[in-house]
Amino acid sequence: MSSVNETLIRDVVSEVLGRLGGAATTTVTQPATAAVKDDPCVAAAKRAAATAKAAPALRGKFGVFATADEACAAAQEAFAQLQQKGIAARRKIEEIVKTMAEKNAELWGKIELEETKIGRLDHKIAKLGLIKLVPGVDWLRPDARSGDHGITLEEYTPFGVVGAITPSTHSIPTLSGNIVNIVAAGNAVVFNAHPSAAKCAAVAVRAYNEAIYRETGIENIACIIEKPSLDSFNALCKNDNTRLLLVTGGPAVVKAAMQTGKRAICAGPGNPPVLVDDTCCPTRAAKAIISGGAFDNNLLCIGEKQVFVLESVADKLMQRMSENGAVKLTNAQFDALTKAAFTIKEGEGGGCAQAHTNKDFIGKDTSVLAKAAGVNIPADTQLLFGETDANHPFVQEEQMMPFIPIVRVKSVEEGIAKSLQSEHGYKHTAIIHSHDVENITAMARTLDTTLFVKNGPCAAGLGLGGEGYLSFSIATPTGEGITNPRTFTRVRRCVMVDNLRIY
Ligand code: NAD
Repeated sequence: MSSVNETLIRDVVSEVLGRLGGAATTTVTQPATAAVKDDPCVAAAKRAAATAKAAPALRGKFGVFATADEACAAAQEAFAQLQQKGIAARRKIEEIVKTMAEKNAELWGKIELEETKIGRLDHKIAKLGLIKLVPGVDWLRPDARSGDHGITLEEYTPFGVVGAITPSTHSIPTLSGNIVNIVAAGNAVVFNAHPSAAKCAAVAVRAYNEAIYRETGIENIACIIEKPSLDSFNALCKNDNTRLLLVTGGPAVVKAAMQTGKRAICAGPGNPPVLVDDTCCPTRAAKAIISGGAFDNNLLCIGEKQVFVLESVADKLMQRMSENGAVKLTNAQFDALTKAAFTIKEGEGGGCAQAHTNKDFIGKDTSVLAKAAGVNIPADTQLLFGETDANHPFVQEEQMMPFIPIVRVKSVEEGIAKSLQSEHGYKHTAIIHSHDVENITAMARTLDTTLFVKNGPCAAGLGLGGEGYLSFSIATPTGEGITNPRTFTRVRRCVMVDNLRIY
């Protein structure tokens, strides 16, 4: 037997064993060869893919790997496979992810809540049902120029492997939306999930890969590190195959990503203020604040976190909130909740007292907060609120709890200034309820946020009840905005000199 044949046989045996190892949770044994028709024009890409054949150890894992290096190697191979299979495969993968997110919304919402213990089941399910609104392959349209000197085409082309970091607040929704965006643009992706939301993320990644492999023959297009850590984050960022980073999370991970030396698209923290003036409809404003602030127990980075309201309309707004599912705390109850929800350490934060949010209250139900406040509330209470001043920790911290502090202001100018201060320069999201275009314009210009919503709940900024499209990664400090497939592309220009202009 020739040495070539021996090698071949060894590879085949290892591959089969690898597949058997990963087959416990899947019925997949063969790729469907006809599902995506090969384009004869991609012979070169095919050759590249053949030479990029991965080690058998990467087989049968369906995207779930022990180390960042293995995951990156597998994703690099999947990238080559995707190039070979073309746009049809990207479309198929987009369809698979969108369909499966919706179909599994109840199960995956449940396992995510069980693992993270933050948020609300109904809203975890709703978020997965929304993945179908994330833009995909159709988003990418080349730009063309035609003139006396011929034609020029600018195309949006992939980078390769994208390293993506996902938050605990929406683990499966973020990774699902990221896959749609990233793969629609022709890339593969490796996730380092939040350690407290990594098991559910791996379940979804494995299920997606099983279906994608079955339908397209592509293995490991979306990979995940099974037990993520700071070390695996560093290894993912350092790996040569990782061409681009997408981080969705708080200030620490944004800083860490920016220090890697790799290009990073950063969907960072927010602390969205709401300004309510006396020209708005208080009922509409109250309902919008409750709907946005209560969603998933206020885990959304875009969620209403503090309200500044003109004195003349403050009582009416709070009355309407009470009539629409929110409960107002007395000052004593508010104080009790504050003591439970924050640890105030003197002498930190440049000599001032610094509040640290108590993790036991993040994303918890109103009933948990009410218990700490010492108040009985109806079971269907959506949101709690109370009156305070602008320096309160509930105003200054991104607290992610279904409680909203209300601060009275004497003028729109004061409201805008306090909104700006409380947003801390994150340039994330701000909201106004007003029918005065000058007030609206002044706040939009001053706050300078990525999302600015007028007369609706925060979610309207992501196409939910407002016009626009959805993503769970809103790139704020790095400026890409609401991510979409184009965010993950390189623009390349192709020029034909003097010919092919047909007029
Ligand atoms: P988090 O910052 O604790 O974690 C986010 C991710 O970063 C996790 O995967 C975590 O493991 C990782 N991480 C944290 N510190 C790190 C470090 N020093 N080095 C490497 N990795 C690190 O945030 P969270 O509690 O999971 O999510 C809530 C935060 O994310 C909020 O601040 C929220 O505003 C923000 N967020 C932003 C967006 C957006 O689109 N802009 C979307 C969702 C959440």
